[in-house]
Amino acid sequence: MFKKIEKNTLRVGIVLLLVVGLSTFAVGCLTTASGRRAFIIVPQGQMLTLGAQAYAQMRKKNRRSSNTQLVSAVRRIGWHIAKASGKKYKWEFEPFDAPKTVNAFCLPGGKVGVYTGILPISRTNAGLAAIMGHEVAHAVLRHGAERMSQQLALKGVMTLGSVVFGSSKYKGLIMGSLGLGAKFGVLLPYSRKHESEADRIGLIYMAKAGYNPREAVTLWQRMAKQGKTPPEVISTHPNPLNRSKALAAQIPSVMKYYRAARRQKTVMLR
Ligand SMILES: [Zn+2]
Repeated sequence: MFKKIEKNTLRVGIVLLLVVGLSTFAVGCLTTASGRRAFIIVPQGQMLTLGAQAYAQMRKKNRRSSNTQLVSAVRRIGWHIAKASGKKYKWEFEPFDAPKTVNAFCLPGGKVGVYTGILPISRTNAGLAAIMGHEVAHAVLRHGAERMSQQLALKGVMTLGSVVFGSSKYKGLIMGSLGLGAKFGVLLPYSRKHESEADRIGLIYMAKAGYNPREAVTLWQRMAKQGKTPPEVISTHPNPLNRSKALAAQIPSVMKYYRAARRQKTVMLR
C-alpha cells in the first residue's frame, strides 16, 4: 500500500518535472498576446487547419439561425471585437439555433459560434459583445494550442507531425483541446487561468470596440443566477460572482478605451 503510493507520487513527480522542465527551457515556449510565457509546441498553421475542420463539423452538427436580424447583429458585433483585437484571422461569426444551449465557443483561427440559448442572459448588444470578447480572447491568446501542447507533452509526444482532424490516433485529445467533447455540442471548460485571462483581455476588446464594459459585470451577475449546466463561458471555476467582481475591479483601467472608441464613432457618424 505504502509502496504503491510512493511509486505513484514518484511517477507524478517525474511527469511534473518533465512538464516544468520543458516549459521552462524548451523550444515550445513563447509569449502570447497577454504577455505571458506559454508552452506551445503545435505549429500555428496546424492549429488553424484543425480549427477550420472542427468548425466545418460544428456547422454540420448545429442548425444555423435563420433569424436574419440576429445573424447580422452577431456578425457586426463580432467584427468590431475582432478588429479591436488586432488579430488577422479568417474570422467567422455564426449564431446557432439551440434555445436550450446556454453557450458560445471560439475555435482556433477565429471561428466563433453563439447558441441562441445564451441570448436571454446576454440581453443587449453589449452583453453579447462581452461574451464574444471573451471567446475571441481565447482564440487570440491561443489557449487551444496551449492546452493541446500540455496534453501532448504529458503523453510524451513532442511533435505532432501532420495530424488531420478525424484520422489521427490523437483525435480525442485534439477535440478535447479545442474544447469539444467526444460528442460535439458538449463544450469543455478551460482552466481557471485561461478563463481569467480571457475575461481580462476580452473586456479590453469589448471596450475598444465601443461597447460599455460595465455591461460585462452585470452579464456575469445574470450568469451567476442561471443555475443550469455551466456553459464554457461560465465553467465551474472561477465562480461567476467572483468573475463579476474581478471584472468590476478592472473597469477603471478600460474606460479610457471605451471613451476613445465612443468619441471616434461620434466623429464617424458626423
Ligand atoms: Zn472561456
